[in-house]
Amino acid sequence: MNDDIQAKLRHLPSVSVVLAELDDDIARWGHQAVTAAVREQLSLLRAHLHQGKKPNFAMAVILNSVRDSLLRESRSSLVPVFNLTGIVLHSNLGRATLAETAITAMSKAASGATTLEYDITEGKRGDRDSHIEAIICELTGAEAATVVNNNAAAVLLTLNTLALNKHVPVSRGELVEIGGSFRVPDIMSRSGCHLVEVGTTNRTHLSDYSDAIDSDTGLLMRVHTSNYRIEGFTKTVPETDLAKLAWAHRIPFVVDMGCGNLINLKALGLPHEATARETLENGADLVLFSGDKLLGGPQSGIIAGKRSLVAEIKKNPLKRALRLDKVTLAALEATLQLYRNPDTLASELPTLKLLTRSESDIQAQAARLREPLATALGDSFKVDVIAVSSQIGSGSFPMEVLPSAGFSIRARQEEDEALRTLHQQFRELATPIIGRLSNGALLLDLRCLTPEQESHFIEQLNDIAP
Ligand SMILES: *Cc1c(COP(=O)(O)O)cnc(C)c1O
Repeated sequence: MNDDIQAKLRHLPSVSVVLAELDDDIARWGHQAVTAAVREQLSLLRAHLHQGKKPNFAMAVILNSVRDSLLRESRSSLVPVFNLTGIVLHSNLGRATLAETAITAMSKAASGATTLEYDITEGKRGDRDSHIEAIICELTGAEAATVVNNNAAAVLLTLNTLALNKHVPVSRGELVEIGGSFRVPDIMSRSGCHLVEVGTTNRTHLSDYSDAIDSDTGLLMRVHTSNYRIEGFTKTVPETDLAKLAWAHRIPFVVDMGCGNLINLKALGLPHEATARETLENGADLVLFSGDKLLGGPQSGIIAGKRSLVAEIKKNPLKRALRLDKVTLAALEATLQLYRNPDTLASELPTLKLLTRSESDIQAQAARLREPLATALGDSFKVDVIAVSSQIGSGSFPMEVLPSAGFSIRARQEEDEALRTLHQQFRELATPIIGRLSNGALLLDLRCLTPEQESHFIEQLNDIAP
């Protein structure tokens, strides 16, 4: 080794000498974590020296970098963000925002022992589904219900219970792929079922189903084409006809509803979507839907319908692997409780509140925030209030848009580069701001920025150096 480097290395403090300065940090982070951080920083400095750089060995500098590294490591990567993408139920941003009552219920359930599987009247073991079954039945008209981790799990469990090693006819027009690699053909095969494709992409007739049914058929399934629409020369078979066909062959008719709607959305000015109750009334034996899409609850999958089928599903050993935890159950139950009062639902349930926010309300907010935003970004950017279109999201209603308002931010020079840098700076804020780049502008849709969040949104803009 070079004598010069050797000589310099003698000035590098030892691990124990640095640790002696870090009593408070050791109390906070623990001896092991602090020692590891010190070792890492010292070896970094050694490496720099070998690379011919001139590292600073001053104790204050070393302590600072050790503390920075400890802070960095303690920071969670799962952090709240401002969802200004215009997609209300954004799957990558966690879908539904929970209601206050659901959050309180989660916190209570998490804080100590609960009656999760304890029958308080009888003083013996109970059933975890008991907490939500009655209310799901009340809201959907189902005879029985159970819940699992998400709708993908609901589909898997239902298929595996009712059609293991059997054939399941599905229209070619319904072989959907939902984001995050939920694909009907794949989930079928993993459930142990044989998918029988019937009809064509655009047109499927009742006879296509009846021709496909034989003694190997386990059930009939309809899948909601949540995230796309086939238009033009099309035909699908009404649920009532599929229900009759299934009944005639003594096989269950199952509908994967996707987003899971329980109310008349039209009355709230939103696009029409069949409710679980309507689908059951149309003759579905089971409906399956997500808890964190339109329903506005926690990630979960709901299975509701015929008592005998739900009972069979609950006996499947896979149910144990897919069951909900107490915290999610508490949130789901509290969310469903809100549906008991349709008059307050749209104001209590954040998902509906955001979806029904009026364009004029969002415009007024944009007008209010334009000036502080423009000031924070400085002269290099031009900020305009513009009309934008929000989407419901999570693959529901791909063709429907909700008129909204927001900002178009354009760079005055080096447009693309400056905008990309700004978008990155937005993402690096304590509460990252997520917008979208479109046609040389950074678009921020304000639909999901609540009035309570406004001041934090503006305050942290000061952290962006113009
Ligand atoms: C969203 C969706 C699923 C998957 O639901 P998750 O709750 O995300 O697991 C399955 N089927 C359809 C039709 C859907 O729209």
